[in-house]
Amino acid sequence: MSKQVILAPLALLPGSNQPQPATIEVDLTSGLISSIQEGLVQPENDVELIHVEEGKVILPGLIDTHVHLNQPGRTEWEGFQSGTLAAISGGVTTVIDMPLNSIPPTTTLEGLRVKREEAKKVGVNCDIGFWGGIIPGNSSELVGMLKGGVKGFKCFLIESGVDEFPCVGEEDLLQACEALKDTNALILFHAELEAPHPIIGHGHVHDKTTISDPSEYSTFLASRPEELETSALTLILKFARLYPQLRFHIVHLSASSALPLIREARSGENGTKNLTIETCFHYLTLKSEEIPDNATQFKCCPPIRNDENRLKLLEAVLDGTINYIVSDHSPCTPELKKGDFLNAWGGVSGLGLGLSLLYTEFRNKDIPLGRIVDWLSINQAKQINMDNKGLLKVGNQADWIVFDPRKRWEVAVDSLLFKNKVSPYIGKTLQGKVEKTYLGGKLVWDHATGVEESLLSQGNLL
Ligand SMILES: [Zn+2]
Repeated sequence: MSKQVILAPLALLPGSNQPQPATIEVDLTSGLISSIQEGLVQPENDVELIHVEEGKVILPGLIDTHVHLNQPGRTEWEGFQSGTLAAISGGVTTVIDMPLNSIPPTTTLEGLRVKREEAKKVGVNCDIGFWGGIIPGNSSELVGMLKGGVKGFKCFLIESGVDEFPCVGEEDLLQACEALKDTNALILFHAELEAPHPIIGHGHVHDKTTISDPSEYSTFLASRPEELETSALTLILKFARLYPQLRFHIVHLSASSALPLIREARSGENGTKNLTIETCFHYLTLKSEEIPDNATQFKCCPPIRNDENRLKLLEAVLDGTINYIVSDHSPCTPELKKGDFLNAWGGVSGLGLGLSLLYTEFRNKDIPLGRIVDWLSINQAKQINMDNKGLLKVGNQADWIVFDPRKRWEVAVDSLLFKNKVSPYIGKTLQGKVEKTYLGGKLVWDHATGVEESLLSQGNLL
């Protein structure tokens, strides 16, 4: 059979925020969507016919452009197989892997080659692309990596936590931008920058004298004040104006005090147009007031802040100041998460939970499903120039998922498929669940049967 026909009482089609009945046809030879008709149209014989149950919704496959899979080098933290399995179990059909925490990091063309080889060898369960990295001294590698297929370049303005991925200063950034100036490359910033003078009264990052009890979350929160993010923003805006041909992006924005500055910078005819912003599921669904002592599964940088901050971030997602939402799935071994807030590794694990988390958060706020899905699909597809992903559209890759919005479920340790089952979401009750995931028309995840050998390793390297 070379054709798949999906009879969907509810499908989310481009141009509409609400699902509608549709008949979607997939050419299984190419893996592309070949036709979409409104309404349920009985197909001819000799096709793979898929009847979707009433109440369940067909959505485009989701995209998560911020994950750390850490292989090779720190495969005990996460791996290509386990990470991409967690992804498809939550409807994520495309991930883009961050350049750090693997060894080697993706800071050279050779590093990129090593990663691709490894991913090919162990197999991946969804499509995967790679970010490159900017570190001091690697500007001569950047154009080569771009030609080699990286989707852009990540850098840190503050220490990254691993020795092989040092942060950059203004001079390094200038060199990188000069090297890339004839391209329209995307540069991603971990946007925390220590002010030239210690921040009096807020607890400087390395100023242990102001630190009280490291088992309390408030101690950690005080060590990563919002000012770190706003001072980074100032520097990034300067570069965005200096290099209008390049694209600049702030990963995992947490500080709501940056939002008015971003709106202001973008406004007007001469406003900055080459800056995009992402935030994470954890900043939108968790709050510092509820983080227990020593609950280091909540520790990440920049930190999860208070509820007032969270509500401002939600507003900024709704008004478009924030362009999309990612997991920043950044795991490590359980041993490294032990101890108090100052010593434990920073990083939140939650790959694959995003749609359920956001649906749970937004469903009572009258936010249509279509808008939620845009933040998790098309907005990210555009960012990485994947023209054939992110929408159920003729000619697009047939990445599609079955979502049951009525299903209530609890995040349990054994429902998590990533390698190290340490997550702040364990115990949360969520509304809405991905039941099936198709990649290029092929079934790659079925919640009813669980992990099945025959469904694994069908992903491609982008
Ligand atoms: Zn990250």
